[in-house]
Amino acid sequence: MSQTRILYTKPSITEREITYATDAAAHGWGERCYDYINRFERDFANWIGATHAIATSSCTGAMHMALAALEIGEGDEVILADTNWIATVAPIVHVGATPVFVDVLAQSWCLDPVKVEAAITPRTRAIVATHIYGNLCDLDALAVIAERHGLVLIEDAAEAIGSVYHGRRAGSVGRFGVFSFHGTKTMTTGEGGMFVTSDPDLYERVLTLSNHGRKRGETRQFWPAEIGFKYKMSNVQAAIGCAQLERIDELVARKREVFHQYQAALRAWPQISMNPEPAGTLNGYWMPTAIFEPATGVTREQLQAAFGREQIDARVFFSPLSSTPPFAAVPQNQLAFDLPSRAINLPSYHDLTPEQIERVVACLLSVLPEAR
Ligand SMILES: *Cc1c(COP(=O)(O)O)cnc(C)c1O
Repeated sequence: MSQTRILYTKPSITEREITYATDAAAHGWGERCYDYINRFERDFANWIGATHAIATSSCTGAMHMALAALEIGEGDEVILADTNWIATVAPIVHVGATPVFVDVLAQSWCLDPVKVEAAITPRTRAIVATHIYGNLCDLDALAVIAERHGLVLIEDAAEAIGSVYHGRRAGSVGRFGVFSFHGTKTMTTGEGGMFVTSDPDLYERVLTLSNHGRKRGETRQFWPAEIGFKYKMSNVQAAIGCAQLERIDELVARKREVFHQYQAALRAWPQISMNPEPAGTLNGYWMPTAIFEPATGVTREQLQAAFGREQIDARVFFSPLSSTPPFAAVPQNQLAFDLPSRAINLPSYHDLTPEQIERVVACLLSVLPEAR
């Protein structure tokens, strides 16, 4: 019997996004060419709880500019989790710094603070805390370590919109935070990103770099003071972003609802664990992940085959970056190497139906002999 395919993510686009984008396309030119961009930056900063925001063409671009603004480069080391997306490390390499991959914690799949501290050398400049799949890093512990060693704490909150750490939104705690509005993320502008900070000097620096090195207040036309970047978001994309931001609470609430439905359906199976939500935090649950206990013997390959048969677009857990061709393997990052071999990411999007969730759960459990 043929079934409709279940995608792994899909944006939620309503009349509001269409109206704003249409308005930007029809009227957002000339004197109004920055209106939606300015509004999106202001409203996003407000919502996140940071003083400043700069909209960008991607999260990768936001990270690249901010690292350059901090003059992180040749000879510097930047610590990040081995469990990560390539976008987090590429800008570190682009500025000429050396990425140092450390292992993650068993519960959060995020940076292990003890391993972070052990990896610090006289060359270390920064720690990048990636909130993987919406799960929060131990920001208190990382902030203490950063402070003690004079390092910059950076948050990659690309996957963590809607996650809240002890009353503060993910991305607003570190020296700066970066977000992604790629089409697969909880809120989208198609492609896009955001840099946020509450440090006025860093903001000015990134603003200049983001403007091809032209300083604010420069009266000469076409007059760069230095080589900068061109990672800007367009007004039409920002219009979609404004509409998504007005719906952000609804978008996050739906992500949480989908997660809770999976969690309830899997509660009877302690051999499967999912994304944590420690006391004092909220998880935006960008991506619901199911991890099988080693004793089950369930493998990623079995899971991929089962989901493939059922026309469900479940995705593998990130392979450790150090295992990919651009880098040298760091096999002592045992959890980062082990977790992907017995995990799968489950579909989650706004319009996912209870019946589709049941289909995903049935497929997931089909690999467990005791559940059949
Ligand atoms: C999606 C993602 C990014 C990159 O976002 P782009 O907008 O595609 O540059 C960076 N880091 C993480 C952890 C991501 O999931």
